[in-house]
Amino acid sequence: MNIRAQKTYEALFALEDLREILRATAPVHELNDEQQERFNKILKSLRGTLDEIEKGRGESKIRYIADKIELRSKEEEYINLNPIQSGGRLTAEARKALIAYGDGYSVCDYCFKPFRLDHIKRPPIQEFHSELAEFVNMEAVRVVRGARRGFQIVANALLDKGDIALIAEVGHYSLGLAIEASRAEWREIPLNENRIVTPEKTQEKIEMVKKETRKLPKLIAVPHIDYMYGNEHDVKGIAKIAHEYDIPFLYNGAYTVGIMPVDGKKIGADFIIGSAHKSMASPAPTGVLATTEEFMGRIFKTTRSKGDVSGRKFGIKEVYLLGCTVMGAPLIAMMASFPRVKERVKNWDEEVKKSNYFIREFLRIEGNSIVSEMPRKHTMTKVDSTGSFDKVAQTHKKKGYFLHNELSKRKITGIIPGATKQYKLNTYGLSWDQIKYLENAFREIAESYKIGVR
Ligand SMILES: *Cc1c(COP(=O)(O)O)cnc(C)c1O
Repeated sequence: MNIRAQKTYEALFALEDLREILRATAPVHELNDEQQERFNKILKSLRGTLDEIEKGRGESKIRYIADKIELRSKEEEYINLNPIQSGGRLTAEARKALIAYGDGYSVCDYCFKPFRLDHIKRPPIQEFHSELAEFVNMEAVRVVRGARRGFQIVANALLDKGDIALIAEVGHYSLGLAIEASRAEWREIPLNENRIVTPEKTQEKIEMVKKETRKLPKLIAVPHIDYMYGNEHDVKGIAKIAHEYDIPFLYNGAYTVGIMPVDGKKIGADFIIGSAHKSMASPAPTGVLATTEEFMGRIFKTTRSKGDVSGRKFGIKEVYLLGCTVMGAPLIAMMASFPRVKERVKNWDEEVKKSNYFIREFLRIEGNSIVSEMPRKHTMTKVDSTGSFDKVAQTHKKKGYFLHNELSKRKITGIIPGATKQYKLNTYGLSWDQIKYLENAFREIAESYKIGVR
């Protein structure tokens, strides 16, 4: 590991060990001899570690956090192109939140009547919920444990046994599972010849289902940007068609909410779902489920049951959410990142510009092509190097792994090891300098294997 990254971890861990002594001696903080000695020893070693950080020298002392759990320094050491990881990389504020709010139910210190997560005022969770609703321009919002839990909540509330829901041919598996779990069925809206889900294809599918089953689908869910190609789908047009048939429309913003502006009203969505650990600089498991006045009563239905023995009731706990959702550090980290997230969506055009710039350079390598739509409207792209790197792989003793190795050598990670035909990469959040470094690395690798570069 890079020695500064290594030593930074050592210093952080030393501080946590000091913090442990504070905790063990609360509230008077009178240290016994053993504790005092340990305190001094940690402090002395920490001073040394700080010097090592300054000089960028030293030996690695720690490899594991605990038994076999390695330190993770991908984001400190590499350019990470992993398609699902770029938008979820934490801000410094989120990392600070993790250390301060890591204890179990840490957000419950000031949870008073009516005892619900989204009503907590300190830390400002209630305020965060209103800001989040404003952010996606919807009336009601809840934080959920990932986009998939958002799908499940909507499916639970809207679908009954035997109902049909439409998803895209490129819909996420977890959406299919959410529908299946509510004993409904999913059918796919096929892509058009450009691998786009269109209002026309949606209407055809609605009609097909209607003809076949004599009933209409109960829900239509389409990703704005899909995970397979990173293509943009006409969600606004699809929402319009859905509403012509009076079918609720779910906008899947796993790859959009938190990295680009999303306006639920403009789209005409009944549900907006986001993945905070994918696109809002948040730790897992976090996501967003937003809806309109019309649907909030249904999907955020409160409990009505009563204990037949105890006579207990559960207040205003929301049934499909199982009451409180994301407690503790993940929520506070998501909140801590939010001010930056609100700002960063304004820079989306620049992110797309960088994406297109990189792709243009990538295409100078002879035999490379792009599977995703062009020009790029997103930073996640599926590329094809069957005619370049895969040719090298055919005769290389490391086979397809050579590309992974060459990239690793240059501190670039995130492309599936062994893949040389088609693979995805995401340039979200890279600086122009990093983009140029990346472009250069690919060119260098191509040239070193005698692949032509235009
Ligand atoms: C990643 C992804 C999901 C799942 O998101 P989670 O927050 O991990 O549940 C759903 N849909 C799409 C399109 C995705 O890309």
